[in-house]
Amino acid sequence: MYSGVNASDGIGIGVASVAIEPDLSYTPKKIEDTEAEAARYAAARDSFMAMTNKQIANMQAKGLEKEAGILNAHIEFAEDDGIIDSVTMAIAEGMCAEQAVDNAYTMYYDMFSQMEDELFRERAADIADVRTGLLAALLGKELVDLSTLPENSIVVVGELTPSMTADIDKEHVVAIVTETGGRTSHAAIICRAMEIPAVLSVADATKNIKSGDLVVVDGAKGNVIVDPSDEELETYREAARKFAADKAALEAYRGKPTVTADGKEVLLVANIGNPSDANAAVEHDAEGVGLFRSEFLFMDSQQLPSEEEQFAAYQKVGLIMKGKPVIIRTLDVGGDKEIPYMDLPKEENPFLGYRAIRYPEEYKVQLRALLRANAHGDIKIMVPLVTAIDEIRQVKALVEECKKELKAEGVDFNGDIEVGTMVETPSASLIADILAAECDFFSIGTNDLIGYTMCADRGQDKVAYLYNPYQPSVLRSLQRIIGEGVKAGIMVGMCGEAAADPLLIPVLLSFGLTEFSVSAPSILRVRRTISNWTIAEADELVEKIMKLKTSAEVRAALQAAAR
Ligand code: PEP
Ligand code: MG
Repeated sequence: MYSGVNASDGIGIGVASVAIEPDLSYTPKKIEDTEAEAARYAAARDSFMAMTNKQIANMQAKGLEKEAGILNAHIEFAEDDGIIDSVTMAIAEGMCAEQAVDNAYTMYYDMFSQMEDELFRERAADIADVRTGLLAALLGKELVDLSTLPENSIVVVGELTPSMTADIDKEHVVAIVTETGGRTSHAAIICRAMEIPAVLSVADATKNIKSGDLVVVDGAKGNVIVDPSDEELETYREAARKFAADKAALEAYRGKPTVTADGKEVLLVANIGNPSDANAAVEHDAEGVGLFRSEFLFMDSQQLPSEEEQFAAYQKVGLIMKGKPVIIRTLDVGGDKEIPYMDLPKEENPFLGYRAIRYPEEYKVQLRALLRANAHGDIKIMVPLVTAIDEIRQVKALVEECKKELKAEGVDFNGDIEVGTMVETPSASLIADILAAECDFFSIGTNDLIGYTMCADRGQDKVAYLYNPYQPSVLRSLQRIIGEGVKAGIMVGMCGEAAADPLLIPVLLSFGLTEFSVSAPSILRVRRTISNWTIAEADELVEKIMKLKTSAEVRAALQAAAR
C-alpha cells in the first residue's frame, strides 16, 4: 500500500493507466528537400492547433475558462508570424524542422523567462509547452492524452497540469494518483471540484505502479492499494457502494433550507480558496460563502496582487454568488502560510509572530478592493487572528479612511459593509463580550483555536492526540464565544473544519451557532445532520458532555449519540 495526500474523497477501483511523458529527443540532420520539410512543419502546426482547439472546447464545456485562456495563448505562440518566419528561414537553409522549431522556441523562451514583468515571465512556460507540442507532432509521438482512456481507468501521473485536466473524461476516470501536489494544490482543487477520488504526492507512483495494474484508491484516507487481495477488493467495493448510496441519498437535501428537526433555520455556507471555487459552492447548494481565504490570491502570485486584480477576484465571487453573503478574510499569512516575495523575517515561533493582522500596511489595498467589490455583491470583511479590541478598531478606522479616499476619487463602492472577527485565539475567546460589542459578526476558526488552546500544532503528528475539538477546554471556549455573540445579537458562525464534524454539529446547535461554513462537497451532508436534531435533544446532549473531563469521554459520548 502507498500513502499520499488525501486530496479528494471517494473510492476508485480500476485499472492503472500510467501517463509517461514521451521522449522528444531527435538527431539534427541536414535537409535537401527544404520545401517538403517546410510542409512537414506546416502539417505539425496544423495538428498541434487542432489538438489544442479541441482541448479549449473541452475546457469551456467544463466551465474552466481560465485554463481555456492559457491554451488560447498556446495557439497565439504557434501562429506567431515572427516565430514562424525564424523557423521557415532556418528550414530554407537546410535545418531539419525539429531543430528549427527547437531553436526558435528556445530563443523566445530564454527571452521571455528573463523579462522583469511577471506576466511575460509566465508566458515563457506557455512557449515551452508549444515547443513540446510541436516537437511531439513532428516526431509522431503521442503526448499524455487522457481523453481516450477506457472505462474504470485510474490515472497515474507525475504532475497533473491544466491541459491534462481539460482532457479528463469524468465518465471513464475513476481516480487519480499523482507524485506532486498538496491538499490546496491546483490539482487537488480540480479533483475535488470534479469529484474524482484522488491521492496526491505518492512518491515514485509512476515507477511503482504499472499500466494495467488493478488499483484501489481511497481518496478519503490517502491510500493507494496495488493488486489488492480478493478480501481487500470486496471491502473496498462495499465501501464504494456505501459512498455512492450515501451521496445519492444526500440529493434529497438539495434546494432545501437548512433547518433543525424542530424548525430552527441556520445558514450553511462554503469555504473557498479562489474565485472559481465559488462555482463549486453554487453547485453544491451553498447558501453563501463563509470564508474566502484571500491569501491564496497572494500565494498564487509572484508579487502583491494590485487593487484591480483583487477587486476583479472579489467581484467575481460576489457575482457568482448572486447577492448571497460572501465573507472574505483579509490576508492571513505568516505562520504556516509563506509568501516569499513579502520577505517576512524568519522567526523561531512563526505561529506566535509577525502574521495576519499584525502588519496592517498591506491592508488598505485589500480593503479598497473589498469596498469596491461590495458594490457588486454582499461582501463582508473578516479579520483573522484577532487578539485585542484595538485590532478591530484599527481595521474599522482603515475602512473609514478607504471610504473617504474612494469617495474623493469618485470610484464606485458600497460603504455599507460588515466587519467581523475571526475568533481563533484564546485571547479573542476570553474577550468575546468586548469584541462582540464592536464588530458585526463572529466566525470561529477552530483550526487555529484548537492549536492555540492546546498548544499543539495542527500539522505535528506527535501532538495529534491533543489536537481535537472534543477537549473540554475547547468546548468551554466555543460555548463562551457563541454565548457572548448570541447575547450581543450578532451572527456567530464557524469556518474551521469542526463545523462539518457530524459528532459536533448538535453541540454547536445547542450552543447557538447560526452559521456553518464548510467545504463545498460537505454541504448536503451537514444539512442532513442538522435536520436530524431538535434543539432540545442537542441541549440534553450538551448537558451531559459538558460534565465530562477528558476528550476521549466526550468523543465516546458524542459517538454514542451520533445520527
Ligand atoms: C481556522 O483557523 O479555523 C481557519 C478556518 O483558518 P485557517 O485554516 O486558514 O487558518
Ligand atoms: Mg486560522
